[in-house]
Order: sequence, then C-alpha cells, then structure tokens
Amino acid sequence: METMKNYWPTRTGIMIMAVICAACATAKGNIYPLAPGYLNEQSLYASMQKLIQAEPDLAALKVIGFSGTENLPIYALEIGSQQAERKILLIGQHHGDEVLGMEIVIAWAEELVYKSKTDKEIKKILDNYRFWIIPTVNPEGWRVFSQGLYQNKRKNNRDTDGNGKLDIRTDGVDLNRNYPVFWDADAVVPPTHQNYKGTAPASEPEIQAVLALAQKHHFELAIFYHSSSSGMISEKIFLPWFDAQNAKQKERFDALLSRARSYAANVRKDYQKEHYEASPLAGSRMGSASNYFFHIRENGAFLIEVGGVNKAGVSVVYPPLPMKDKIVDKHLEALRKLVSNKSLET
Ligand SMILES: [Zn+2]
Repeated sequence: METMKNYWPTRTGIMIMAVICAACATAKGNIYPLAPGYLNEQSLYASMQKLIQAEPDLAALKVIGFSGTENLPIYALEIGSQQAERKILLIGQHHGDEVLGMEIVIAWAEELVYKSKTDKEIKKILDNYRFWIIPTVNPEGWRVFSQGLYQNKRKNNRDTDGNGKLDIRTDGVDLNRNYPVFWDADAVVPPTHQNYKGTAPASEPEIQAVLALAQKHHFELAIFYHSSSSGMISEKIFLPWFDAQNAKQKERFDALLSRARSYAANVRKDYQKEHYEASPLAGSRMGSASNYFFHIRENGAFLIEVGGVNKAGVSVVYPPLPMKDKIVDKHLEALRKLVSNKSLET
C-alpha cells in the first residue's frame, strides 16, 4: 500500500494537470463529457416542468410518443395564446451528439414563457403563433451522449446488428434518414454506418411520433437544428430538395429561401465576422424531416447547422459554457426577428 501512495499526484500536481486539461479543452474547442450547465435528462425535464407551472394557460407539456428500444418519452412543449392561429414547429435534435439545437429551443421556450407578461414583442408573437417545441426526437441517442458514454453517438439505440445487446458505437438508425419521403433515393449502407436509414421508411417509433404530430397540425414553418461535427457544412441553413421544373415547388422554395436568408442574416458566425448563409441549392433528396414536411405535409421547413469552426480548424459543437450561451442568444434574437411583425412586414 505504501508504494501505491507514491502514485497519487500531489495537490500541486493536480492543479497543474487541471490547468493543462483546461488549456487542451480550450484549444480543442469541444468539451466532453459535456460541461456542467448543458441540459441533461434531469435538468431538461425540470426546465419543462417549471415552464408549464409558471404559465399553465400558455404552456403545456405533451408526450408525443416513445423511443423504440428504451421506451423513453418524446416530449413536446406547446406554447401560445388560445387565439394564436399560426403554428411553428422547432425540433432541437435528431442526432444524439448535436446538442446546441436543444439548448436553443429550450431557451426559446423560456423566453416565450418567462417574458410573456413583460415583453410586448413576445406578447404579440404569442398572440399570433403557437409553437410546438420538441427538444429531442432521439432521447436514446441523447441519453448515451449526455451521460458521457460515447462522444459520437448519432443514431437511436435500435439493435441493428441483432446481437441482443446495445453496441453504442455502431447500433441504431439515423432518424433524419428514416422519414417516408425519397427514402429509396438515399444510399444503402450497412447497419453499422452512421447514416443507416433503417429497414423501411418510418420504421422507427421516434419518427412515427413526429408523423402523427405533423398529420394533426399545419405548420407554417418547421425548423430542425443540427450541428456539423466535420465542420464541412457549419453555420449554414439547408432547404429541402425541390424540382426546379415544378413551378409550384419552385415558388414555395423561393419563399422559404427568403425566410431562411433573413434568419441567416441575423446570426453572426461563432469565430468569424460573417453571418450564417442559406444555401440557394436544392437540399439532398433523402428521407429527411425537411423533405417530409415540405413535400408530404406542404409546410415550410429548413435545417440549421449550428456551431462554428474555430481558428484551429476544429468544428466546435459543444463549446465551453460562455460560448454556448453566446450561440443560444444569437439564435434567440434571430427567432424573435423571424416571427416578429417587424420581420413579416419587410
Ligand atoms: Zn444532425
């Protein structure tokens, strides 16, 4: 036991190590396991409960379905005045390791509820709009990621190799490739692949839950938040695929593009001076949420890739807290402008 003692670092040693680790984390940009202050299973649920208790006439918490393997609830907050007729859907996350969107949509729910009585602009927004806010449609993937079990957890936890146990690195279906639209057009990849689309369109109960909601409501706009871990598509807004020869689709696409552009113009990039960009090109032809809402439900829909590439060339998609808070604030401002009367008149 005496020799073991020698292996324990001194207090100074621990402090030096802590400083080195903090420096590494800053240089690297991403901190994993997540820094305290990010939402976790307990704090997400507590935040949503607090919201509905603060304004029960304005906000309700619903369970729209359950995940396929672990039977975890898929929550949705419904927020808006009784007379509000226009509907907007915000989905914080499809992929377990992409957490900034969840932070944004929950902060937006808090902005709406806690400022509903004191902020005239918010009051007006709530008189016009009813928001459906889903923090995650992938509670299994997010559980694995947020518990610090696997940094690149993207898919749900379906036992896709059928070996009777969860392989957190390889099992699962990419939920944003499982929607029943253009499903056949997407590449066929092995079940272990990060982009595995499942055995059939809408095979996943998580997606069935979203479809049931989409069939009940007409959403003027649906926004899906993602984060690009490769950094290849960071800080961009992507629209659905469309057929340029189809006049009606082109018209709807153009209207959506102008809305996406105004959102993008209101968000400055995290590590550069420019603003986000909205891609004017047709999005990928695959079974994504954007394509489903645009083509099958005929709703407006686009996808926002949150999180920037830092000076060291690293895509930062779960930054230290001060940067996370900055990112959230920028998107709250952009959302506010997107739905305020001011932006609608221009
Ligand atoms: Zn994603």
